[in-house]
Amino acid sequence: MAEKLDMFCYQCSQTAGGTGCTVRGVCGKLPTVARLQDNLIFAIKGISAYLYHARELGYVDGEIDAFLERSFYSTFTNVNFDAEDFVKLAIEAGEMNVRTMKLLKKAHIETYGEPEPAKVQTGTVRGHGIIVTGHSLKALGELLKQTEGTGINVYTHSELLPAHGYPGLKKYKHLVGNLGKAWFDQKELFSKCPVAILGTSNCVLMPREEYRARMFTTGPIKLPDVQHIAGYDYTPVIEKARSLPELEEKPGDVVLTTGFSTSTVLSLKDKIKELVEAGKIRHFFLVGGCDSPLRKAEYYREFVQQLPQDTVVITLACGKFRINNLDLGDIEGIPRLIDVGQCNDSIVAIEIAEGLAELFGVGINELPLTIVLSWMEQKAVAILWSLLSLGVKGIYLGPILPAWVNDDILNVLKDNYDLRMIGNPEDDLKEMLNGRLP
Ligand code: SF4
Ligand code: SF4
Repeated sequence: MAEKLDMFCYQCSQTAGGTGCTVRGVCGKLPTVARLQDNLIFAIKGISAYLYHARELGYVDGEIDAFLERSFYSTFTNVNFDAEDFVKLAIEAGEMNVRTMKLLKKAHIETYGEPEPAKVQTGTVRGHGIIVTGHSLKALGELLKQTEGTGINVYTHSELLPAHGYPGLKKYKHLVGNLGKAWFDQKELFSKCPVAILGTSNCVLMPREEYRARMFTTGPIKLPDVQHIAGYDYTPVIEKARSLPELEEKPGDVVLTTGFSTSTVLSLKDKIKELVEAGKIRHFFLVGGCDSPLRKAEYYREFVQQLPQDTVVITLACGKFRINNLDLGDIEGIPRLIDVGQCNDSIVAIEIAEGLAELFGVGINELPLTIVLSWMEQKAVAILWSLLSLGVKGIYLGPILPAWVNDDILNVLKDNYDLRMIGNPEDDLKEMLNGRLP
């Protein structure tokens, strides 16, 4: 097994042996500072992705841009050697990510309307088709406009499932369903579904030969030997879709529900209060985040399957594909599984938690609510720091500890934020329910 390095930095010419500083920097940088710099860079990468999608819709924020410049600058050679300051910067990154997610939410809602709960089919409809994957509502919206009346059906994949909740997108009758699950099933899905494919954001995989010639990318996405479309004229995708065989009519195994906005959920607050006070809702769980093919990620489904009937699960991002085909039913009309959207819609989950805290006259940490987060990439890092910046404690994180977190950093996260790693569903659930009964 490879030896775990204390740090790795090769960003300047002084780097040890011309290959990399791995024990401490030639400049004097210590491993924890190097790792906190990496942590900050990962968080600001996450913020940048959300900012990109807001800018696509014409929404910008100079204060966030200024923070990004300052943060990147702090990681230069010979600028900042102060570990505590990098923890503060990570918290600030969390705050800026909250601001960014709010900006993107505003951009989405002002452009496409506020999401409404929507039933989404998971099968195919007879006819030509295009699968759109990624996060860009702008790209999907433009494609829907351009395909209207052409007879081509449009399907979402993975993180674009929540698009079906937006009035300005679901009004297109040829937006017919969602295929597949989280991002990592795409090679199999795209191979077996002989339609055109458009990748709009992160979480595209290196394509198989079977579908390379019918795949297209747009925005920041590029794949080798895959046609890239700069701008939003998707004529080549449409022509390709027309040239491919028609899909068969094949209903899916399940109908999914998505599109719960802050206002939809909070419009139910009186009923929720009544059910909590009557002991009919015991606990809320936020189970979501990224998904990954790691074996340990099976935890999230097992966890939800073991939840008692008097609990409600809020979910978001592609971690939801582990659980969104479970029929959890409802508690006197309140659904037990509430999908609030993409990973950037963590802001919706935060607003719901703030709304519930206000409703019960307590702080978020006093609510009967436990956050069970799964992370895969850098947007999740930004979201974790957002939750910490809001003072949320006792988050369960999985499926693995981020590799850049050393003991020093872990101790800060445990001591200041009571961060816990997921263990096994039974024990975790016992701990969560015992510790936080209303
Ligand atoms: S910045 Fe410091 S730690 Fe990084 S490569 Fe240069 S000398 Fe090494
Ligand atoms: S939630 Fe994370 S892992 Fe999933 S598609 Fe979005 S960015 Fe990728």
